[in-house]
Amino acid sequence: MDDFFTPVSGMELPRFAGVPTFMRLPHVPLGHPRRGEVEVGLVGVPWDGGTSNRPGARHGPRAVRDASTMIRAQNGATGVRPFEAARCADFGDVGPNPVNVNDTVARIEAAYGDLRGAGIRPLTVGGDHLTSLPVLRALAKDRPLGMVHFDSHTDLYRGYFGGSDLTHGMPFRCAVEEGLLDPARVVQIGIRGTAYDMEDRDFAGAHGIRVIPIEECFARGWTDVMAEAVQIAGTGPTYVSYDIDFVDPAFAPGTGTPEVGGPNAFEAVSVVRTLAGLDIVGADLVEVSPPFDLGGTTAWLAASILFELLCVMVPSLDSAAEVD
Ligand code: MN
Ligand code: MN
Repeated sequence: MDDFFTPVSGMELPRFAGVPTFMRLPHVPLGHPRRGEVEVGLVGVPWDGGTSNRPGARHGPRAVRDASTMIRAQNGATGVRPFEAARCADFGDVGPNPVNVNDTVARIEAAYGDLRGAGIRPLTVGGDHLTSLPVLRALAKDRPLGMVHFDSHTDLYRGYFGGSDLTHGMPFRCAVEEGLLDPARVVQIGIRGTAYDMEDRDFAGAHGIRVIPIEECFARGWTDVMAEAVQIAGTGPTYVSYDIDFVDPAFAPGTGTPEVGGPNAFEAVSVVRTLAGLDIVGADLVEVSPPFDLGGTTAWLAASILFELLCVMVPSLDSAAEVD
């Protein structure tokens, strides 16, 4: 692998030193001469304009970048060395308009349209979950995607207060209605918590989206559940969306809408490893809210999940020629 795309090693500069990019990768902003060589681009979206309750996810990318400097080059569990398998870089942030949701959604879609046009697979750090909608608008422009979605919420809700304004509770409802997702290839894992009603579940049922509640996950075990999830996603192009509130708040307190009774940190990283072999065209990790975090626990777990996502994304590049 070209040295330029190799993260700074802790053997050359301690991991606590230097300017923090994602996983100590090179910063390759828009306009950089080597941008077109990147295969997997890490992108921050510092934005929480879709948040309906406790905000702060706008501070997520910076906290996760800092924590991600702890990442080493090799996956201890799977042996994958993602930076030898693909040219990776930190593209920096998509600049949001913090006071205008629609403008921000348009900015994100434009930025990701540009990445897709260059054949780059994005790995996103949010940002609240509304971030996923404009990303999908860009990545699924010409064909619907499958999706593996980890969350304690379905995010298939209607607008808030009876309105149609976009929120982080509705990105996948919009994505299904806009034809960006193939509902038969969508699986939502870990759903739980109190609800206003069952309207979101009814929407899922009506469209054939598979919702796996947390009770079923623990009753069947993660190996069995993830085998089903991988089968649902199938062989077509697939997006992976990971809301940090999927994880139990004991392990990920720094998030806006926590729900008790979720997976622990070991389970949170292990489930991602089961996705190896899927054709992952993009992935995101969203809803990290540093103001609610305790000692950086959530940011560090998020950085670790991101690394696992990267490790299952890089083999997908082998099929890039067929897909893009
Ligand atoms: Mn969510
Ligand atoms: Mn959630």
